Amino acid sequence: MPIAANKAVSIDYTLTNDAGEVIDSSAGGAPLVYLQGAGNIIPGLEKALEGKDVGEELTVAIEPEEAYGEYSAELVSTLSRSMFEGVDELEVGMQFHASAPDGQMQIVTIRDLDGDDVTVDGNHPLAGQRLNFQVKIVAIRDASQEEIAHGHVHGEGGHHH
Ligand SMILES: [Zn+2]
Repeated sequence: MPIAANKAVSIDYTLTNDAGEVIDSSAGGAPLVYLQGAGNIIPGLEKALEGKDVGEELTVAIEPEEAYGEYSAELVSTLSRSMFEGVDELEVGMQFHASAPDGQMQIVTIRDLDGDDVTVDGNHPLAGQRLNFQVKIVAIRDASQEEIAHGHVHGEGGHHH
C-alpha cells in the first residue's frame, strides 16, 4: 500500500541542517505519525514520500520554499519594552506567541535588546534553511473518515481528544 492522500503514515526520521547538525529526530522515541495530503508535514517532505512504501528509506534535501520559507527581513521589527508588560526579565532567545496582521498566531523570538528597544523576529526558526531528511517508512494504513475530516491522525502517535 503506497503512500497516497488520506493514508496515515508512520516514519522514523532524522533532520539535519547543511552543517550536518541534527535538528530533530525520532530516534529513541516513537515514529512520527501524520496524515498524507493534509499539510501535517512540510510540503517538500510530503511530496518526496508520495508513492513510497513500507520499509523504503530515502534521503532528501528540501529547499526553504518547500520547507519553512525564505527568511524575510520584513518579519523583524523593533518594539518598545512596554509591549512586554508582565514579563519579569526579557532575554535574547525568548519566544512569545503573537498574532500576525492576518490573524494567524505566530511565534516571535527576541533577537536583540538595546535600552528600551526589543528586536523581535517572526521568522520560523528554520526559515531560510535547506533541510536534509533521512526517512524510513515504518507503517501505512488507511485513515478513518474521522481522521480525514479532522485533517490529522488519531490514536498512537496522533491526536487524543
Ligand atoms: Zn481529531
